[in-house]
This record gives sequence, C-alpha cells and structure tokens, in this order.
Amino acid sequence: MSELVKIKINAQEYEVEEGKRLIPVLEKLGIKIPHICFHHALTPAVSCKLCVVEVREDDKPPRIRYACALKVKKGMDIVTESAMIYKLRTEAIGNLLKMAPQAEIIHRVAQEFSLATGIMPDGCIRCRLCIRVCKNIIGAKALKMEKRKDISYVVPSETGECIGCATCVSICPTGAIQCIDKEDIRTIKIRDEIIGRHSLERCEICGRRFATTKFLKRVEEIEGEKHPDKKEHHVLCPTCAKLYARKDLRPLAPHLAKTYAGKPID
Ligand code: SF4
Ligand code: SF4
Repeated sequence: MSELVKIKINAQEYEVEEGKRLIPVLEKLGIKIPHICFHHALTPAVSCKLCVVEVREDDKPPRIRYACALKVKKGMDIVTESAMIYKLRTEAIGNLLKMAPQAEIIHRVAQEFSLATGIMPDGCIRCRLCIRVCKNIIGAKALKMEKRKDISYVVPSETGECIGCATCVSICPTGAIQCIDKEDIRTIKIRDEIIGRHSLERCEICGRRFATTKFLKRVEEIEGEKHPDKKEHHVLCPTCAKLYARKDLRPLAPHLAKTYAGKPID
C-alpha cells in the first residue's frame, strides 16, 4: 500500500493513498463526479472530459485537471463543483451528444449531475406541419406543441381526438411520427408517446385492413353531407374503390383486387 497523505477535497481534509488516480479516490470517499470513459483496468484517455475538477497545488492558482488521469499528491486542494467546472462539463456533455445523441448513458449522466443537454433529439424539426394538417385539413386537432423544461415538443392534444388517418405521418418530413399497423390495430406515435390507437377495417372486396374505423366514419359523414341522396355505402380500399368505379371491371373486382392490391390502377 502507498503512503497515506493529506489532501483537501471541497474544503474537507482526507487521508488518501498517494499516487492513486482521483476518480477511484473520490469513489472510495463517496464523492460523486460525472465520468463515462474511465475504466479501472485501463490507462485513462481523458476523452469524455466530464471528470473535470479544479486543483490547487503549492499555493499556485487553481488549475483545471481531469480526475481520471490525475494522481493525488500530498497537499492537493481539490474542488469538484464550481461555476467553471459546471460550464466545462456542460460543454463536454454537448460534445458527446453531438457524437451520440441517442446514447442513454449521456442523458442519464446529464440528468444526475443537472447538466443542460439542450434539446432532446427526437427526430422532430418543429416545423409543425403535422399539427397544421391535423387541425386545418383533417379537423381532428389531435396534436399540439407543449413546453417541457423550456423546450417545445409535438405531443398529443387533450382537446382533440386522433382518428388514425396517418396524414401527419405522411406529411412529416423527418419521419418523427410513426404509424404502426399490427394485425387489426393501428398505432400513431411520436417518441414513446401514443397519439392514437385504432381498430382497422377490412376492405369489402380484397379483405385488406386499410383504414381505421374512426377515419371511415368521418369520411362517411363528409360524404353524407355532400351527397345526402346516396343510399349505398361501401368500405373499399383505394385500389378496390378504383376498380369498383369502373362498371366494366366491377364483376371482376374481387379477383382483380387481390391481384392489384396495393398497386396503382390506371
Ligand atoms: S393520424 Fe391522428 S394525429 Fe395524425 S393527422 Fe390523423 S388525426 Fe391527426
Ligand atoms: S413531428 Fe414531423 S411534421 Fe411534426 S413538427 Fe416534428 S418534424 Fe414537423
């Protein structure tokens, strides 16, 4: 065991093993600082730059040092939290996030040490196309912007109701909103937040599940307003609807629909 020497950490005196790296020393004393790239079995690389501390030695002005690489020496006066340290750690977190925005560990460390990460990457560029189309064209008002910790996010709105039309999904330029059709259920979501979950209806001709019950109901209502005399109502997918519209092809529709399902018909 190395010689025990006295050092100060955050104005408190400790006896520690001389020559040991500062991160394990702090860990042993229960003093937490952020770090990601340190490993006990490996030579420090000072890569993540999160373990920055201020160290005063021999009555010289304090210097910025990195706890992963720093070996403790007798008389060191170490500060693990200060305005300068916070600034440098925030910069370091920002740099790490540029390289790996999806990395959970960076977000976890930032949260634990209250380091500002700026915007949480969620694939959304805040163009509001989804909100506008949902409100102005679909009339569902199912989306809105909401501020969370000073950052605006697209979120489901309590005042509207999603009908599962997926127009927001197709208009979103970045693919931030997802439409997942699984068996007979359609889920519209952004990040891990559900905007709507809907049952899907089958096409009367080809049997393909193609649209949500709520969406079809809305179409029927609109059609009913436009054409009050119309008696017949059919639930047809776009492909079969085109076939059905051609009288000459109508008898063949069930067979052709299966053949052409999903393909455009001239
Ligand atoms: S799927 Fe829902 S949220 Fe998206 S445009 Fe349609 S109604 Fe609005
Ligand atoms: S989810 Fe897509 S459409 Fe909506 S604001 Fe974000 S980027 Fe724009």
